[in-house]
Amino acid sequence: MTATAPALEFSTTFSSSPVPAERRAEILANPGFGTSFTDHMIMATWTPDAGWHDAGLRPYGPLSLDPATATLHYAQSIFEGLKAYRHEDGSIWTFRPDANGTRFQRSAARMALPELPVESFVESLDLLVRTDSEWVPSGGETSLYLRPFMFASEVFLGVRPAKHVTYSVIASPAGAYFASGVKPVSIWLSSEYTRAAPGGTGAAKCAGNYAASLVAQQEALVNGCDQVCFLDAQERKWVEELGGMNLYFVRADGSITTPSLTGTILEGITRDSILTLAADLQHKVEERAVSIDEWREGVASGEITEVFACGTAAVVTPLGRLAWNGGELRMGDEPGPVTQEIRTALLDIQYGRAQDRHGWMHRI
Ligand code: PMP
Repeated sequence: MTATAPALEFSTTFSSSPVPAERRAEILANPGFGTSFTDHMIMATWTPDAGWHDAGLRPYGPLSLDPATATLHYAQSIFEGLKAYRHEDGSIWTFRPDANGTRFQRSAARMALPELPVESFVESLDLLVRTDSEWVPSGGETSLYLRPFMFASEVFLGVRPAKHVTYSVIASPAGAYFASGVKPVSIWLSSEYTRAAPGGTGAAKCAGNYAASLVAQQEALVNGCDQVCFLDAQERKWVEELGGMNLYFVRADGSITTPSLTGTILEGITRDSILTLAADLQHKVEERAVSIDEWREGVASGEITEVFACGTAAVVTPLGRLAWNGGELRMGDEPGPVTQEIRTALLDIQYGRAQDRHGWMHRI
């Protein structure tokens, strides 16, 4: 399968028992994250002979899997995460869905899964969001979180790329990440665990990366931190990323730096968008290796004035504290001005309050 494979035709089978409107309203009033799902889902199948086929929208419901389904054993599985935003006029938009589609293809290639045409990826999201449009919340920083995923659905215990693969998309209403104002988070610097090694799967959004990060995340929680920060696997010296977000450092002169893409960190779409957006806002932007010593010394000397994390879920999140075995670094209890400026600029585009100069928004 290549990117030039023909686009899929999606059939539609509507649910005969959608969630009643009153119940949906209750869920949308307090959606939380990742616990409620809309009335429909997307499914498609791939086999070597037929390519992608049987693509369609159908009622949301459980999958029935044989216990020998390959993904359950060898985690040949990838996913994406993006949001649909409701604008003030009621229209619904996604943010750079083609970038997620391209990353999904790169993840697929790394995991020996078939590539889905980006056009079909975007069309599948459009179809699901259009059908379940009443599930897109309005107000505040709410959204409909979209979760495309692909997994080895062949029933076979041999270790080789599956010859039966399933693509699916589900959608889940999401509340504001920071319900009571943006608060700086505290981060645990993992010295025992690493996330990815050169030649490994760090740049792929594959299920196993997240399974491997859980014990480090647990360690972060035990140590009173919200999230974990990983260093590189070889020298344990270079700052890579958090378990689910990329990092940015703001300097006293207003310039911002993010660790360069080494193949071991995820190429975040928020990270990439901020490179462009910060330049629009007249900040000098730089992608380069940042060492943990530079971080510690920079904060201590005042050279680094703010540190923030970025990703689809929390947009831009200030870091207030970095803790490790035997020490900690404090970066402030309030979000810094550059962090806030960038956060607001990005949200204003996503929610249609600012002009979309880069053609990032996609109308459903
Ligand atoms: N790093 C990791 C490991 C992630 O899981 C995510 C979330 N997809 C990110 C960074 C941020 O990526 P994005 O901005 O595309 O959400």
